[in-house]
Amino acid sequence: MCDLSTELLDWYDLHARAMPWRTPPAEKQAGVRPDPYKIWLSEVMLQQTTVAAVTEYFNRFTNRWPTVSALAAADDADVMGEWAGLGYYARARNLLKCARAIVADHGGIFPADHAALLKLPGIGPYTAAAISSIAFDLRHVVVDGNVERVMARLYDVHTPLPAAKPELTTLAEALTPNSRPGDYAQAVMDLGATLCTPKSPACGICPWRTPCLARQAGTAQDLPKKTPKKPKPVRHGTVYVARRSDGAWLLETRPDKGLLGGMLGWPGSDWVDVADNRPAGAPPIEAQWSPIAGEVRHTFTHFHLILTVLHADTDNTPTQGTFVPREAFRPSDLPTVFRKAFDLIANPPH
Ligand code: SF4
Repeated sequence: MCDLSTELLDWYDLHARAMPWRTPPAEKQAGVRPDPYKIWLSEVMLQQTTVAAVTEYFNRFTNRWPTVSALAAADDADVMGEWAGLGYYARARNLLKCARAIVADHGGIFPADHAALLKLPGIGPYTAAAISSIAFDLRHVVVDGNVERVMARLYDVHTPLPAAKPELTTLAEALTPNSRPGDYAQAVMDLGATLCTPKSPACGICPWRTPCLARQAGTAQDLPKKTPKKPKPVRHGTVYVARRSDGAWLLETRPDKGLLGGMLGWPGSDWVDVADNRPAGAPPIEAQWSPIAGEVRHTFTHFHLILTVLHADTDNTPTQGTFVPREAFRPSDLPTVFRKAFDLIANPPH
């Protein structure tokens, strides 16, 4: 098995993807150490999000907050604003909590220890393994969707996901070498992202083409098998977008707990499953509300959402939310679902 890891590391030395948080293999072998802050930040951002989408956010974050101590000292609203559009906002809240815990409990230095990393806010088994392995070259197995796909194919595993997870983790663990485990972890991910892709694996140029059992059996394209998911329910809701005569917008910071917690948003109703009983919710200010043509459609992990958008111009005093002056309002600070509501008003459908 150690031959397999050597073959893959040789391939990685030539073909490693360039990423702003990554220390290329040649630099690493010359003694450059990866920055645990950058590895942690990228791993948190990459959960449920693609490398292409994360790169721009990562660069903005590290320009603005180049160290974990700088991030720990940031204003919550600034961090939530920079995170807007990246989704899964609990990650941003935990990011701040974790940065502050590292400063308070570890003197601003990431602990080079898997168990200590696991105790930090927002760091689960996957992220702890990734930081331990990639930042500190400790031998921990890192299993994401790419790694699952590669292992299922290399060993021709037909058990469907998610039931196959323990088996695929055991196989990945057995293959992880003692030497260069960090580069090895990144190499399997790169293989899955660039050659062993979901739809058309490039087996002809794969470093594992000879030992790969799925390639031999002709089953690569059908793996990994997946248990079909239940269709997502559709929820409905209303948002109220009010504007004052001086151009200020009525916004609120959502409660810390719950979906989009701590993010900026438009006041509105709860989101419920029943289409024919749309919740109006109480308007946040007295005004003549008019429905905007069209609706906002957005998909979260567990449901689709359809939002009706009501708009009003008013100088009354709000009972909910705060007017944000025009010059202080950046639509990019809104999470995507609320940005879509703003776009509907800024560019109404014809
Ligand atoms: S040979 Fe093909 S299926 Fe097997 S690991 Fe390589 S790319 Fe994936």
